[in-house]
Amino acid sequence: MTQPKAGPSRPLIDLHTHSTASDGSLSPTELVRAAAKAGLAAVALTDHDTVQGVDEFLAAARELPIEAVPGVEISMQGPSSALHLVGLYLDHHNPELTRGLDRLQQARDNRNQAMIERFRELGIPLDLAEVAAVSGGGLVGRPHFALALMARGLVHNPGEAFSRFLAAGKPAYVPKFRFEPQEAIHLIRAAGGAPILAHPGLVGMAWTSLEELVGRLKEMGLMGLEVYYTEHDGNITRRLKGLAARLRLLVSGGSDFHGQNKAGTRLGRGKGKLAVPLELLAPIKKAARHA
Ligand code: AMP
Ligand code: ZN
Ligand code: FE
Ligand code: FE
Repeated sequence: MTQPKAGPSRPLIDLHTHSTASDGSLSPTELVRAAAKAGLAAVALTDHDTVQGVDEFLAAARELPIEAVPGVEISMQGPSSALHLVGLYLDHHNPELTRGLDRLQQARDNRNQAMIERFRELGIPLDLAEVAAVSGGGLVGRPHFALALMARGLVHNPGEAFSRFLAAGKPAYVPKFRFEPQEAIHLIRAAGGAPILAHPGLVGMAWTSLEELVGRLKEMGLMGLEVYYTEHDGNITRRLKGLAARLRLLVSGGSDFHGQNKAGTRLGRGKGKLAVPLELLAPIKKAARHA
């Protein structure tokens, strides 16, 4: 592994996590407490398409020895599939950002209704209240449909729910509205945040295409790459680090922690070997403030 060695003397951070405001299992308060308990120096809350958890997250962090970073993870339309954009150190009350996220929420509400209709046609009469009940009170998405199907005993685990019903092309799948990359990048920059391409290693593109894509995103205002990520191996981590250096992009990293909703991924440590050094934080913070 090319990732830096962790040790008690080496402060670590985690700049990609989810709470009950999207599809994580811990509330924002529980999340920041768990991060402090794990000894992390900083943690960012980056819920999918929402900043609803950020106020609670920042408030809970005030009494803890940890830096809490306000953030979001926005899905955007890539050349062949979805891309994820993490925004860090943003002003989560910025009206342009919140209007954009409201639009995504509205699109999600319509899509959830359409998915309920699909399940009805499949002879599975789920209702939205039942799905919302397992969502922990935040936004409702496909992972919560998976939990609702499990609660009914129709599937054994979320993976089976996706492969039988929810994944693209499966019978209950309904496509979701997504922003174009320039719109998503603009929303985060408008709110003063640093836009960072999330898990570039999962994009599923040949390396040269990925390099070209990152170059185009940089011209649109992208400021960084999530180089350190739970599912990046040593090879992709090294290549992404090189690409970030060549294009003068910031380096970020995180676990994509979802609590019990993605068992096996730990805060700060991912699947065990992740180690995101604290030194990455200051350049990101500085860049965001000067956006
Ligand atoms: P949504 O935003 O409602 O389309 O849901 C997307 C989320 O579903 C992703 O963030 C993943 O956490 C989860 N997901 C997507 N595909 C799978 C899969 N094959 N198995 C389990 N979870 C998945
Ligand atoms: Zn998620
Ligand atoms: Fe993601
Ligand atoms: Fe994520």
